[in-house]
Amino acid sequence: MKRTAIYPGSFDPLTNGHLDVIQRAAKLFDRVIVAVAENEGKQPLFTLTERVALVKQAVTKLPNVETDSFDCLLVEYVAARKAQAIVRGLRAVSDFEFEFQLALMNRKLDESIETIFMMPKDTYTFLSSRIVKEIARLGGDVRTFVPPNVQSALKKKLKPVK
Ligand code: ADP
Repeated sequence: MKRTAIYPGSFDPLTNGHLDVIQRAAKLFDRVIVAVAENEGKQPLFTLTERVALVKQAVTKLPNVETDSFDCLLVEYVAARKAQAIVRGLRAVSDFEFEFQLALMNRKLDESIETIFMMPKDTYTFLSSRIVKEIARLGGDVRTFVPPNVQSALKKKLKPVK
């Protein structure tokens, strides 16, 4: 049986922290599907189509990683893709409470799905899409935080305020 994991998130935009988690998950599972959430409520900087394209470009070298989007209950999406697990990243204690709640709620909704938490390389534990966007907005260099395609997309999207 093929083991499939879904890595859901807003990915607004994808960072090297996300990529680190994707690479780790790709070693454990036969197939990893990075599932970009519509998440209108969060008023994303990048459209869903842009976020999906940025992930797709960044994972081309990982043969068992696919990119998709979803706009329904996560557990329903996981079942529809015949996946066994949800992968989430844990950066620090601050992530824990929300992630714990989410994982237990998803288990209540579908007991057959496991949530796996992965910790990124220590240098990425401070990284978040929100911080990357703030730095880019102010004209800062985000080269070490995001893959090159995301860096140029941020440059195009944001005009630095001087
Ligand atoms: P969401 O809106 O679901 O929080 P994100 O795109 O912000 O979506 O994050 C998706 C997942 O990746 C979450 O589990 C989040 O904790 C994790 N994540 C985000 N940034 C990092 C990082 N730098 N290192 C490891 N995991 C991360």
